[in-house]
Amino acid sequence: MRPITYARAADAATAIAAVSADPGSAFLAGGTTEVDLLRQNVLTPRHLIDINDLPLNSIEPQPDGALRIGALARMSDVAADPLVRERYPMIAQALELGASAQLRHMASMGGNMMQRVRCSYFRDAESPCNKREPGTGCPAIEGVSRGHAVLGVSEHCVATHPSDVAVALAALQARVHTQGPGEETHAYAFDDFFLLPGSTPDREHPLAHGELITAIEVPAVPVARRSLYLKVRDRESYEFALVSVAAALSLVDGTIADVRLALGGVATRPWRAMHAEDFLIGAVAQRANFEQAARVELSTARPTPMNAFKVELAQRAMVRALETLANGSPA
Ligand SMILES: Cc1cc2nc3c(=O)[nH]c(=O)nc-3n(C[C@H](O)[C@H](O)[C@H](O)COP(=O)(O)OP(=O)(O)OC[C@H]3O[C@@H](n4cnc5c(N)ncnc54)[C@H](O)[C@@H]3O)c2cc1C
Repeated sequence: MRPITYARAADAATAIAAVSADPGSAFLAGGTTEVDLLRQNVLTPRHLIDINDLPLNSIEPQPDGALRIGALARMSDVAADPLVRERYPMIAQALELGASAQLRHMASMGGNMMQRVRCSYFRDAESPCNKREPGTGCPAIEGVSRGHAVLGVSEHCVATHPSDVAVALAALQARVHTQGPGEETHAYAFDDFFLLPGSTPDREHPLAHGELITAIEVPAVPVARRSLYLKVRDRESYEFALVSVAAALSLVDGTIADVRLALGGVATRPWRAMHAEDFLIGAVAQRANFEQAARVELSTARPTPMNAFKVELAQRAMVRALETLANGSPA
């Protein structure tokens, strides 16, 4: 048995100071990831600093039209927020299609950004895993990889990023606000926040140890009012995505005036489908163009024999999402 201490921080500075002073410390928000991994000996913190008393749970419109979501806002509260539902349906849908109602009541948005991969080798403390123990190898590449990534992979890691809402936030180019030990604040562009595994899959974010996520800022994105999140999974609820698509589309006279696309379940990080977006802007909104955009985006896929089906599944899901929006039934 490993002894663990627990403390409840009254303010951000205290929480940040406590965690950054000790590599064996970790923040505790809803605990839905942290406690699971601790029980499985995958994470071995000695000190848990509970941040739930910090005033970081508001959802506030900003003067420039952005929406600032506090890091401790619960998934269920964000999904139910009227402004989120009106301005960014893809965020509300991504949240509602994740986990279970009980988990969504506990789980925070900051914790969601920091959740760890669901790769069974990572989550088995006895298995080699480059993400958990650098240099030990990646058994998933030759092993059971049905749920693993086909985009953004390296020879060191093929684990899929598990978050649903992060896919919608990638499409919307949200920013992640943090506070560090010297009270310095930082705003990370979403594309810079999730790192590709490369040769350092243990490093998933640019955050320093003890850097606290304080908020997620979603910019004003008018096209997102007409958006959706499509999630394909092995069962209808309480399951991670095999493939997911966050999509937003606006048309002028049948031509694509604006589009946002991102993929989940297929990549090592929430995957903004920029090649597909570039292809689609200015194109006629028709199936042939949607199919070509999907092919372009998946052209760099590097599947394993077990997950090769995801390449076609992702393309079909992209086409379905775009057709649904083009045909005027975003929900
Ligand atoms: C059975 C199950 C099914 C699930 N299904 C889905 C799903 O379908 N889709 C999906 O997207 N997710 C799913 N999840 C994951 C769930 O969304 C995450 O566990 C949850 O969002 C984590 O939030 P938390 O507040 O509980 O984080 P915690 O468990 O408290 O923390 C997670 C990590 O984040 C760190 N952390 C927490 N807050 C901060 C902060 N403000 N700043 C810096 N670091 C912080 C912690 O130190 C820890 O390392 C599932 C989880 C479970 C257990």
